[in-house]
Amino acid sequence: MNNPLYRMTRTIASCCAVLSLAAASVHAFAQAPNFAYDLLLQNGHVIDDKNHIDSVMDVAIKNGKIAKVAPHIATSDALKTINVNGLYVTPGLIDIHVHFYAGTGERGSYAGDNSLPPDGFTFRNGVTTVVDAGCSGWKNFEDYKQRIIDRSKTRILVMLNIVGSGMRGDKYEQNMADMDGEATAKMALKYKDTVVGIKTAHFAGPEWKPVEQAVIAGTKANIPVMVDFGVDHPESRPLYDLLNKKLRPGDIYTHMYSGLRHEQDPVTKGPSKAFIDGRKRGILFDAGTGGGSFRFSLAVPMVKDGFIPDSLSTDLHIGSMNSATKDELNVASKMMAIGLTLQQVVAEMTSHPAHEIKREEFGNLSVGSVADVAVLRLEPGHFGFTDMDNVRVDGTKKLVDELTIKGGKIVYDLNGIEARKYGEPPSKYEKYDSTWTTFAPRGPDMHGTKPTPSDNERH
Ligand SMILES: [Zn+2]
Repeated sequence: MNNPLYRMTRTIASCCAVLSLAAASVHAFAQAPNFAYDLLLQNGHVIDDKNHIDSVMDVAIKNGKIAKVAPHIATSDALKTINVNGLYVTPGLIDIHVHFYAGTGERGSYAGDNSLPPDGFTFRNGVTTVVDAGCSGWKNFEDYKQRIIDRSKTRILVMLNIVGSGMRGDKYEQNMADMDGEATAKMALKYKDTVVGIKTAHFAGPEWKPVEQAVIAGTKANIPVMVDFGVDHPESRPLYDLLNKKLRPGDIYTHMYSGLRHEQDPVTKGPSKAFIDGRKRGILFDAGTGGGSFRFSLAVPMVKDGFIPDSLSTDLHIGSMNSATKDELNVASKMMAIGLTLQQVVAEMTSHPAHEIKREEFGNLSVGSVADVAVLRLEPGHFGFTDMDNVRVDGTKKLVDELTIKGGKIVYDLNGIEARKYGEPPSKYEKYDSTWTTFAPRGPDMHGTKPTPSDNERH
C-alpha cells in the first residue's frame, strides 16, 4: 500500500471528501422544489398480489414511501419520472432463505466462508429484503449484526439457529447441549425488528430435540420455525410427524422439492401424505433450492398436481450461487418454465414471504409502505434451467431485473434508464437527484470516504 499511485489516490479522495462536504452543506440550505412526488414510474405493468393489482399503472414515491398507485399520474407532479413501459413493476422481492454471515474468516462454516456478502447478490435481482436462515444462533447473532447486518444496504432479517453457535459445522450443529429454546427466544425478543424466525437444520441424529427446542423458541418469541429436516430418519422422526404433530400452523418446511426426506409419494409422484395433510393444517412450504435441494423429478409432478411453493427462496451460499440455483430470478424463471405463472412467482417472492415472517409491511405497494420496488423485464428467448442432478428443463422466458428501488431511492439500474443520456443537458433539478437515486452526481458519500448509512443500523 506504499506505492505513489495509492498515496495520490488517497490525497485526491481526501480533497474530494472536503469538497463533497461543502457541497452537501450548500444543498442543505437550498430549497428543494415543491413536487408532490420525488419519483414516478410511469406505464409499467404493476403486479401487487397483496392489493390485487395486475395491470398497467403509475407508481409515485415520496419521502421513501409509496405515495400513489393509479392509472395515470401526471409527470408534472414528480421531480423525476421514468417511463417503464413494457416492464413489470413489483414490490421489492423478499428471499426468505439465504446465508450471508460472511467475513469472519472461518473455513467450512456458514458463519464464515460458506456465506456470501449480501449487496452483490440482492439488488441486481430485485431483492430488497432477505432472511438469513440460521447462520447465527443466540451466541453469535450480535457478532453477525455488527459485522454484516448493520453495514449492508440490503435489509437483512434473521432466523436464529436453534444451535447457540449457529451453522458452524457438525462439531457445533450436532451438539444437542447447545440447543436452548429459552436462550434463543430471549435473543429473538431482544432484537424483534431483525429476528423473524427460528431455524433448525442439518441435524443428523434420530432425536426430535432440535425441532422441539425450535418450537419452544418460536412459541415464546411468537415467530415461525423453518425446518431443514437434516438426515432422513423415517422410523424415529418421520416427515409425517414433523408436519402434522411437531410443527405449528405457520411454520415453514424448506427444501420442499429435494426428495431427500420422503416429500414425494412414491406411487403418484405427487406430494406425499405428509405434505398434503401438513398443508391442510397450515404448514407453509418454501423452495430453498440451494446447492442440493431441488429436483425436477419432484417439482414437475408436484407442480402439475397443484402443490406449488408458498414462497420461492434461493438458499444462496457459495455452493448454490454458481450452480443450478444461481439467484432469485433464476429460481423464479425456472418455476415458470415448469408451469407457474408470472403472477404466482411474484406473489411467492413478495406478499407470501412477508406474511410467512409476519412482516406484512413489506412485499406490497400499499400507499404508505416503504418504497421498495423491483422493475423487471420478462425476456423472451431460449433458456435452460438445471437442478441438483444436473438435469435441464428448457424455457422461453427469463426474468431480468432492470431497476431496484429501496426506501424510495434507486440502488440498481442495469441499463441506466434513470440516468441522463450522454450529450443531453442536465435538468435544472439535477442537484436534487439524491432525493430519488443513490447514483446522484454530487453527494457526500460518492467517493466512499464516508460509510454509507444503512437502514439496518436503527434496529
Ligand atoms: Zn440453507
